[in-house]
Amino acid sequence: MVPENLSDLIESALVVDDSALQRQHTVGLLRELGIDLIYEAGNGNEALDLLGLLKLPPGLAVIDLEMPGMDGIELIQHLQAKGVNMPLIVASSREASLLLSVENMIQTLGMHVLGALQKPLDNGKIASALRAFTRAGNVVRQKADAGPSMCEADLAAAIANGEIIPYYQPKVDVQTGILKGVEALARWKHPERGMIPPDRFIPMAESSGLIHDLTIRMMDQAMAQAAIWYSRGLTIKVAVNLSPLSLEQPDFLQRILALVDRYELSAERIVLEITEGSVVANKGNSLGMLSRLRLKGFGLSIDDYGTGFSSMQQLARIPFTELKIDRSFVDGAHERKNLRVILQSALDMAKRLELVTVAEGIETMEDWRLLQSFGCNLGQGYLIAKPMPANELPLWLKGHHRRLPELRPAPRSDEHNGTT
Ligand code: C2E
Ligand code: CA
Ligand code: CA
Repeated sequence: MVPENLSDLIESALVVDDSALQRQHTVGLLRELGIDLIYEAGNGNEALDLLGLLKLPPGLAVIDLEMPGMDGIELIQHLQAKGVNMPLIVASSREASLLLSVENMIQTLGMHVLGALQKPLDNGKIASALRAFTRAGNVVRQKADAGPSMCEADLAAAIANGEIIPYYQPKVDVQTGILKGVEALARWKHPERGMIPPDRFIPMAESSGLIHDLTIRMMDQAMAQAAIWYSRGLTIKVAVNLSPLSLEQPDFLQRILALVDRYELSAERIVLEITEGSVVANKGNSLGMLSRLRLKGFGLSIDDYGTGFSSMQQLARIPFTELKIDRSFVDGAHERKNLRVILQSALDMAKRLELVTVAEGIETMEDWRLLQSFGCNLGQGYLIAKPMPANELPLWLKGHHRRLPELRPAPRSDEHNGTT
């Protein structure tokens, strides 16, 4: 479960705990995971002093929440104020719901939290938090951030030159494993710097207004690809991500209808994913645009559900067809009761609203089985496939067909027992 090259990724760690015994315990666990250079601090002030002496922060900090004087949360607030951002694990023997809210709070601060773990710590818990390091280029992204920064002119040229291309990630039926659709995810195929992930250029595209051309380019390529797939009998849905800004563009609808016409597609085959937070603000009549898109037949998906502050009631007023539950509620749900409760109630409500339910970020068989038992419709995640270029899809599909028996629900012996 732990990345094999963990010691290459994390060379050093800091352990902050007021109990010497627990500190030693944590240090021992980290050593077993291959981290050799470990700094220790008995309280928040010691930790801050120590960090002040280091040229670079350690690759990981494990922080006890309850300490006399400065507690763990205060320490993290200090770190944020000083701009020290390193991956964090917080630990406490308090209840899971408290840990979850602390984890959310740290994320809100913009800090990189790998997990809030219940004490006593063991290697399993730490390893599962460290799995975050193997995720979607977390490490790659950090390294890439150190590179020279790109400017708007580079991005504008990249869009014009066709360097922004879609990778496709399969969306499969959770009950059968069968491929139902793909999500197009933007990649910048940079001639010198290799593949650049969207988190590094979408924000710039949005702040510069380039997002409109970028979105249309992505739509154009995704629809062209969809037409090729359909002509070969692969009638899957193709999802594209929309920036909330697109919804405020008066000519947006005309531009994508022109593409649908050009590739002779039916709008029903195209799903537009819009993040939860963006639709509630309703700036510039984005709700009007959503209704018009729906009237034309496009599928509308609420993306990253659970990360915004909208209520189901608010969302039910918008003509969505699909709800995608954010991966933070999916990944690890099988071992965390709080996530499970949120996940199940979101799925229940979505089902009552007759929305297609999608779980994103499924990385383990345990979470897959859980979603299956919760009756989730579609699933997406590294367990099934990472995003890939269009030309790799046929080969992936071949291998995937061989995996279908393993992905189907296991026969249950407790079929007749009530579950709730
Ligand atoms: P998103 O729409 O939530 O896309 C899902 C992200 O989760 C993708 O990251 C995908 O690679 C990643 N992912 C999928 N399965 C797993 C998994 O099992 N584990 C983990 N850890 N991650 C998984 P990606 O491709 O880096 O995209 C990041 C975000 O960038 C997207 O989040 C979306 O908000 C934005 N984005 C990507 N393409 C576009 C685009 O064309 N237009 C706009 N406006 N935004 C885009
Ligand atoms: Ca999405
Ligand atoms: Ca998402």
